[in-house]
Amino acid sequence: MVTRVSQTLGKIFVRPRRWFLGLSKIRPCFSKSYHSANALESRTAGRTLYAPLQTFTEEEIMLKDTVAKFAQEQIAPLVRQMDEQSHMDESVIRGLFEQGLMGIEIEEQYGGSESNFFASILAIEELAKVDASVSVLCDIQNTLINTLLRKFGSEQQKRKYLPQLAKDMVGSFCLSEPEAGSDAFSLRTCAEKHEDYYIINGSKMWISNADYAGVFLVMANANQAASYRGITCFIVDQGTEGLQIGKKEDKLGIRASSTCAVNFDNVKVPESNILGQLGQGYKYAIGMLNEGRIGIAAQMVGLAQGCFDNTIPYLKQRVQFGKRIFDFQGMQHQISQVATQIEAARLLTYNAARLKETGKPFVKEACMAKYYSSEVAALASSKCIEWMGGVGYTKDYPIEKYYRDSKIGSIYEGTSNIQLNTIAKLIDQGF
Ligand SMILES: Cc1cc2nc3c(=O)[nH]c(=O)nc-3n(C[C@H](O)[C@H](O)[C@H](O)COP(=O)(O)OP(=O)(O)OC[C@H]3O[C@@H](n4cnc5c(N)ncnc54)[C@H](O)[C@@H]3O)c2cc1C
Repeated sequence: MVTRVSQTLGKIFVRPRRWFLGLSKIRPCFSKSYHSANALESRTAGRTLYAPLQTFTEEEIMLKDTVAKFAQEQIAPLVRQMDEQSHMDESVIRGLFEQGLMGIEIEEQYGGSESNFFASILAIEELAKVDASVSVLCDIQNTLINTLLRKFGSEQQKRKYLPQLAKDMVGSFCLSEPEAGSDAFSLRTCAEKHEDYYIINGSKMWISNADYAGVFLVMANANQAASYRGITCFIVDQGTEGLQIGKKEDKLGIRASSTCAVNFDNVKVPESNILGQLGQGYKYAIGMLNEGRIGIAAQMVGLAQGCFDNTIPYLKQRVQFGKRIFDFQGMQHQISQVATQIEAARLLTYNAARLKETGKPFVKEACMAKYYSSEVAALASSKCIEWMGGVGYTKDYPIEKYYRDSKIGSIYEGTSNIQLNTIAKLIDQGF
């Protein structure tokens, strides 16, 4: 029987905010049980002891277990078919909503699970162990769309959109354009002011989830003369006249995740659909992507771990030269190196997430986590194919799909080069 995370979330995460936020705000790690039984930050003989990074609250452990069970029971049987058909099964999207995984941080008053950023990271990681496409759907909804609305939305906008985003509406984040990728703020989509509304014209590219999104958060320039300082975030509803979902990309990996062009042909949006302030869109986009990167890091950690876990049993069972493949020292050293790299990527990711959650500077750590996790995911999945020999190269096993899916980690939400640029810039500034 499938344990429903929504029930669990309902019971677990909807708790007195004082208890939950109190701990998460002041400490890098928090754990109800650890806090009460062992003391998260205990003073022993004048020394302060901090919990290890992988100390989870009882709630976090339960969330991890329940998402893992949901992924195994409801997503795993559909992974191959969704990859082959380049289509996300509706039952999976519905399941994510029913399990409370599309509004993890959304406040209870708007119908969400009112949990924290770290819970989103754990959910993204667990989903990616089974399917990176489902994971990125959950990631974008939680770390970009919901967060933008929660942080910058007016009360009216929050009341209109957050309950839908928690319940049954997917959102898309529209920044990239054909001529504006890494140099995102050179975007050309423009918003022209008329009385109390704007007319948006332009084309977005690579927009994830566009196929089934009910709302689009669109970065458009409302004041070309001000250059990137004119970039403004507009909320555009699906079905608005002139909004057209274009070509769906035929991709190497994360094939079940829809990636489409989105065209705006004289799209009329009321002024009240500006999210936050006029001309602040570039700041919002930078802020969201800084956080979102930790989600992509978690996706890559989950992918690497899922691939590794699917490979090891084969190595223990396959015999050559009268020995299990796993028993050759040449294999064991490689396996141990990859296991260590996955663990290191996870620790970077958890550290960045805990830093963000505690309000500390986290941008450099988020870039490092995304960069390194993407490298590790590509390396681990490549090694797993090699370790399995010929069968690893076939579609009889899921390994080749993990390998294809891994490449996206070094491209979206800032390529690996862009992460390295930012890390270097921050080092230069003394961080
Ligand atoms: C599957 C998928 C889903 C996506 N989803 C979304 C989405 O939902 N919303 C959205 O807005 N966008 C999305 N994107 C777009 C994504 O963020 C961009 O593809 C990414 O930012 C890179 O831009 P680009 O593809 O134009 O590459 P380019 O910017 O053309 O880069 C090409 C190469 O040049 C390198 N390069 C560029 N500038 C520099 C520099 N200054 N220094 C060193 N190297 C540099 C890059 O690292 C890269 O290797 C998605 C992309 C993909 C593939």
